[in-house]
Order: sequence, then structure tokens, then C-alpha cells
Amino acid sequence: MISAEHLESRPRTAGRFPISPAAQAFKRRFYPAATSTQWNDWRWQLQNRIRTLEGLARILQLSADEEQAIQRHRGPLPLGIIPYYCHLLDEHDPTQGLRRTLVPATDEYVRTPGEAIDPLAEDENTVVPGLVHRYPDRVLFLATGFCAVYCRYCTRSRMVGTPTGTYELGRSSWERAFSYLEEHKEVRDVLISGGDPLTLSDEKLDGLVARLKQIRHIEFIRIGTKIPIVLPQRVTKAFARMVGRHRVWMSLHVTHPDELTPEVTEACDRLADAGVPLGSQTVLLKGINDQLDVMRKLFHGLLMRRVRPYYLYQCDPVFGSGHFRTPVKKGLEIIDGLRGHTSGYAVPTFVVDAPGGGGKIPLSPDYIVGREGDDLLLRNYAGKIYRYPDPGEDLGSGPNTPP
Ligand SMILES: *Cc1c(COP(=O)(O)O)cnc(C)c1O
Repeated sequence: MISAEHLESRPRTAGRFPISPAAQAFKRRFYPAATSTQWNDWRWQLQNRIRTLEGLARILQLSADEEQAIQRHRGPLPLGIIPYYCHLLDEHDPTQGLRRTLVPATDEYVRTPGEAIDPLAEDENTVVPGLVHRYPDRVLFLATGFCAVYCRYCTRSRMVGTPTGTYELGRSSWERAFSYLEEHKEVRDVLISGGDPLTLSDEKLDGLVARLKQIRHIEFIRIGTKIPIVLPQRVTKAFARMVGRHRVWMSLHVTHPDELTPEVTEACDRLADAGVPLGSQTVLLKGINDQLDVMRKLFHGLLMRRVRPYYLYQCDPVFGSGHFRTPVKKGLEIIDGLRGHTSGYAVPTFVVDAPGGGGKIPLSPDYIVGREGDDLLLRNYAGKIYRYPDPGEDLGSGPNTPP
């Protein structure tokens, strides 16, 4: 008999959310007045978001550059960090990866060549406010402009975190989106994103999904969110049941294995136990997660939490993101170091979202090394060359085929 006991190792805390020792120590030090019930209440976490220089300086030893960047900030993509998530940031080191993802640096005011305010031309593909229709059979539904934390490399930095502005996102624009979707029978897949849709109340999100499901031709609904990673307490049992009942899929924005805390494990368990298929999306970020061993650890950690790595993104050329961008080659190297070396399920698809709105383009290391007569010459993960009989096929003159 094979025992599956090792798969059952998580502590069961009936109905209660775990607080890891690291979070507990942080809470005691910086939020001594907060009760565990408050700490585990996602609304408390949202209400106590760190949004000012003073608020952040109370917790982190800010560098002159960080201070200057925060002071200089105007407009969308404000500073926003959840107390829970703050415990993962290094108090003293401004170069720590996770800290750089959320704490502004003056580099974000530097525009490097090829960068744009709307690199994916989403505005051009916006058919009604908040609805981006780029692909034949699916749409991106931007349900809100609000996030729990604001990632400094955000591809939608132009539109998130502003209560007012040129972008109408939120319930006022939903009706027009529903009408568009009713009329467009070719749309079978709706990706609900934002902003972060999990910042909506259970009632609003439930209502949104229920409304979309009334549209007959919509057969697949998924939610893109970072909340289970940055504010796992949001995943209450009632919430997990609600999403599970709707049979929607969920894609989690995740950056680094250090994010996979006991709290995140609990959130993933609740969602997976409720029957929600989970995928992940990771942005490749220079000096943060651009190392093979870091990525391997992240993807293995996700698999163990029943999250299937879905996409690894090349960092979009949005204004002020140059300090985050790696050469495309780096992503290819990481995929090459994973594929065949570890579980195929742990290998996401590396994509470049094409500037100008061409959509996601998958990139893969070259495994076709050439052709000899009727044989295709293929390279395996370990670098050995194999022949595969493939008569009469002209591969054309793609980059994979030497002349
Ligand atoms: C990413 C994206 C989708 C979904 O693409 P998949 O490859 O199906 O995950 C749909 N619409 C837009 C505009 C997108 O950017």
C-alpha cells in the first residue's frame, strides 16, 4: 500500500486562518494593537494599506532614492502595500527583490527606448470602457481599477489606482460591456481582470460572474488576480465556495518563492478544495526572479499548492520599467533549464505580449537543430542530438532551419 500521508501534511485550523511565525513577529512589532481577528480580516488589511511616505518609513528604512520617488509621485499607480505583505519586505535592503516590486524607485521616471504608456495598445482594442477585445473568441474584462498592492512594473499603470481619471472602470461601465457581449456571439471566453477583481465584495463579484453566465455563448470564465498571493486572507471559505460554485478558473500573479507562505498555502488549498482550477502568471523581472533556481523553486512550490504554472511574461515595455526588464534570451534560458529537467507541469509558456497589440507570442528554445535528408535533427533537454524520420517535409527557411 502506498501511503499518501505526506500529501496531507498541512495543519488544519478549523475555519481560522493561519498566521505564520514571521507574520506574527511583524504584526507584534508594527501593529501591536491589532487583534488576530483584525489581522486576518481582509478588509482590515485593505483599510490599513500603506499609502504614504510616513506610513512606509515607519516600517522600512527607506533609501534617499525611494523617498524621492515616493515624494515625486503624481497620478495613477500610487504607492500601495498591504500590511500582511509588508512582512516579506527586507527592512534594511532597498535592493531586495520583493521590495523593489512595490516600493517606487526614481528609475520609474526614466523612459527607455521603445517604452509606451499603453505598450499593448489595449486602449485601441477597447470596444466599450473596460472591455478589451483583441482575440477572435475571448475578451479581457477590466472589472475595477483598484488593486490591493501596486506593482511598479504594471502594464496598466496608466489606469490603475485612480478614483477619477480618463478610464471608467467599475460597475458604472459594466452594463455597456454586458450589452456588447450579448451582441458578440463569437465571444466564448471572458477573462475578468483589472485592477484586481478580488478587491470587489463577494456580492459584486458573484453578481458579475452570474451575469456573464446568463450570456449563452460564454462558456469559459476566468479571473486574473494577485490577491491570493498578497492578501491571502481575502480567500474566506465562503468566497472559495462561491467561486467554486461558478466553475470559474483562476490565474494567480506570483513573482517569487518567498511569497509562498503558510497563508498563501491556505488560500490555494481553499480554492483548490472548492474545485477552482488554478494557474499562475509570472513576470520575469531583472534581479528579482531572473535566475533558474529561483524560478524552479517557485514553479515547484506552485505545483505543490495545486497551481499550474501558465505564463511566464517578458516584462512589457511600459513607461519607466527599464530597470525591471531582462533580455528575452534570459527567459529562453530559464525555459531551457526547466523543460525536460523537471516535471513538464512545472514549465510555463514564456510569452512576449506584442507591443502594438499583437497579442501574446510564445517563445521557445530551439529544439530543431536542422535536417539531414529525410531526417529532422532534434536536440533533447540534455543537449544530445536525435534523428527523427520526417520525409518530404520542407520546414521552410525559418530561424530553426539552417540554409
Ligand atoms: C492575455 C489576454 C487574453 C487571454 O489570453 P490567453 O492566451 O487565452 O490566456 C485575452 N485578451 C487579452 C486582451 C489578453 O491580453
